[in-house]
Amino acid sequence: MPSRIAIIGAGLAGLAAASNLKSAGCDVTLFEKSRGLGGRMATRRAGALQFDHGAQYFTAKGAGFQAAVAKWQTSEDAAPWFERAFVGTPGMASPARALAKGLAVISECQVAALHRTATGWWIHDLSGHLDVPGNGSFSTVVLAVPAPQAVPLVTSAGLEFPELAQVRYAPCWALMLAFDAPIELAADRMKLENGPIGWVSRNGSKPGRPEMPDCIVVHASADWSRRHLEETPATVGRTLLAEFRTLTGVQSSPTFMTAHRWRYALVEEAAGTPFLWNSTARIGACGDWCLGPRVEAAFDSGQAIAGAVLTPS
Ligand SMILES: Cc1cc2nc3c(=O)[nH]c(=O)nc-3n(C[C@H](O)[C@H](O)[C@H](O)COP(=O)(O)OP(=O)(O)OC[C@H]3O[C@@H](n4cnc5c(N)ncnc54)[C@H](O)[C@@H]3O)c2cc1C
Repeated sequence: MPSRIAIIGAGLAGLAAASNLKSAGCDVTLFEKSRGLGGRMATRRAGALQFDHGAQYFTAKGAGFQAAVAKWQTSEDAAPWFERAFVGTPGMASPARALAKGLAVISECQVAALHRTATGWWIHDLSGHLDVPGNGSFSTVVLAVPAPQAVPLVTSAGLEFPELAQVRYAPCWALMLAFDAPIELAADRMKLENGPIGWVSRNGSKPGRPEMPDCIVVHASADWSRRHLEETPATVGRTLLAEFRTLTGVQSSPTFMTAHRWRYALVEEAAGTPFLWNSTARIGACGDWCLGPRVEAAFDSGQAIAGAVLTPS
């Protein structure tokens, strides 16, 4: 049994790995750069407003993820939205928080480098130092961050996983709009092809949401997001709002508006393997980028790497 395990990234992949390893009796510490858990399964709150501005819903095709979703339904951390599509309740990060129960999470900690000595792995943050109990004695490190963000960490350890270089992501600009009076839309969720906007949804149409003004999430298409990638949120917000008006005919002015850039939103080219693992150095990597652009892929990859960590080398 590996003694102490460090997991970098508390999205669904890192949390699935961590919760499996903890259930197997391992001592696990998660390091997460954001304040909240769940990564791209995220909800932005502003006063009474609430927007799921990352993943919109998830499906469960395989038995492992179906079992997890069934548990989250029982604990009221998830509910069906339409057909076979589920959402976290009351926000998208609820399943992540359910997985994190009882786990040691060090949040607001961006890991910048890894270093291996004879006694184990050291985790360094941006300051070059990290004072956490047991640092320097982690037997195993699991990277559960988007592939491009895993590369510098693997390099800092003097190692490489060539498969990381083949992974490609599409970016996504997300626009969040709130209206005091409900706006008229052709449908509460719209998937669109070939235009600047790829997705529109009314947040309040999802189950388990509190009463709130009309909160709308607009996702720009991958092409549009790529072309506008380096613009400011304010500029993107104005341009996307104009596109939204053209698409929907809505002319009323939003009482709240903000734009968020997901630089690594949806996997376009996956590594094609459930995880990466170096059994000598005891370092591995997992995430949606291993298997595909879905919440379920992240979960499956996290579960799979836990199996590798538990297998004696
Ligand atoms: C706009 C958008 C729409 C989407 N729509 C859907 C959908 O409808 N259905 C679906 O199934 N999927 C959707 N997805 C994809 C889905 O969200 C992801 O596949 C899944 O959440 C990825 O989980 P993950 O754990 O692999 O990565 P992430 O969720 O990205 O988690 C990685 C975590 O690592 C942290 N991190 C990164 N670097 C460091 C570091 N150096 N130190 C510490 N922490 C670090 C990050 O803060 C993050 O919390 C969407 C994603 C986006 C962005």
